[in-house]
Amino acid sequence: MPSINSRIARITAALVEPYRDLHAHPELSFAEHRTAAIIARRAKALGYEVTEGVGGTGVVARLVNGPGPLVLLRADMDALPVREQTGLSYSSTATDPDSGEPTMHACGHDMHIVCLLGTLDALAAARDQWSGTVLGVFQPAEETGHGARAMVDDGLFERFGTPEIVLAQHVLPIPVGTVATRAGALLSANDSLRITLHGRGGHSSRPETTIDPIIMAAATVLRLQTIVSREIAAADQVVLTIGTLHAGTKDNIIADEAQLGLSIRTYSPELRDRVLAAVRRIVHAEADAAGADRPPTIETLTRLPITFNDAAALDKTRAALRDALGAEQVLEMAAFPASEDVGNLAEAAGAPLSFWFFGGADPAKVAAAQERGTVDQDIPMNHSPYFAPLAEPTINCGITAFTAAAVAWLDPSRTGDVSTSPRQA
Ligand code: ZN
Ligand code: ZN
Repeated sequence: MPSINSRIARITAALVEPYRDLHAHPELSFAEHRTAAIIARRAKALGYEVTEGVGGTGVVARLVNGPGPLVLLRADMDALPVREQTGLSYSSTATDPDSGEPTMHACGHDMHIVCLLGTLDALAAARDQWSGTVLGVFQPAEETGHGARAMVDDGLFERFGTPEIVLAQHVLPIPVGTVATRAGALLSANDSLRITLHGRGGHSSRPETTIDPIIMAAATVLRLQTIVSREIAAADQVVLTIGTLHAGTKDNIIADEAQLGLSIRTYSPELRDRVLAAVRRIVHAEADAAGADRPPTIETLTRLPITFNDAAALDKTRAALRDALGAEQVLEMAAFPASEDVGNLAEAAGAPLSFWFFGGADPAKVAAAQERGTVDQDIPMNHSPYFAPLAEPTINCGITAFTAAAVAWLDPSRTGDVSTSPRQA
């Protein structure tokens, strides 16, 4: 694809300023109004049919270019309630108009947006080299886990077609120019639960007349930690974190209730069911042990699926990434205990997913930190107020990777059978 590759450098240079602008104007989940308007205007200018307001603030950009497969390329758009501390000249000083909270593109979704815009540009310019339909999906609210589902529920596939493949990428502080992925479970499922333990409040001097939810919560917190340590095999990976614990208003009052916020990461449906059942069992048993009048309330706040790369599809996608970036730049990685909602798109479409990470960090800084053994301290991770991908080289790699993967799936010379593809790794 020489003509595509030579164009990407020019496309990248023209996207650095829009990237800085998006970075300086982050918007929280389902509030991506300015962001969506910019995307829609740019995608229209590239010749795409653009539909706004899909699943709230989502934007769909479609380009039909003859017969052939429909390839879905997804980018998320939302930012996080973080006060930016990168010191970049284009740092965010924005706040959310509703909550007043500071906002920052601390997960790099601004990078995903410009990489997909650049990819749509490169694909439109190379229409003579592929056949099929490109569906650019700019998804809201990834960080809350609701955006992909909202787009599906708003008729994404009925209105725009069902894809043969879902392609998506995420920036990570690995060396710029590299991509990393794995077949099978790449990212964990995440279940966020809110558990309310119902006690009976009263005066701090008369505990015998109360059922103290703080004691119930303390016992529950400790017992929940035995799920991973005592009920899960050493070879299986599960993370159970109690991220919030709230109870009480004043030292001389025994509270009425206590609330726990749990985040549970698992890599298989079987383990997920087992852990959730154990949580229910323990929470109910501790309430019984405390003599609670009412059983606890367990609510699911978000449920993110496992991000699962279909092995045969990933072989095909990875071969394209190797061709475009160089085989040594395409890294194999271990399963990662973060979560994504892109799996909801693939699952609802009944299509395989190819998901990979692409690097945004200065390779020299990563190498020096590796030498010192201080990568965790010195290389800011996604969601950190210091997270700051390099602009131009990261955009370039993101567009190169996304375009190559898309063309591989759109390629009119494709055999239609992944297992017999001559490009299989
Ligand atoms: Zn994130
Ligand atoms: Zn993210």
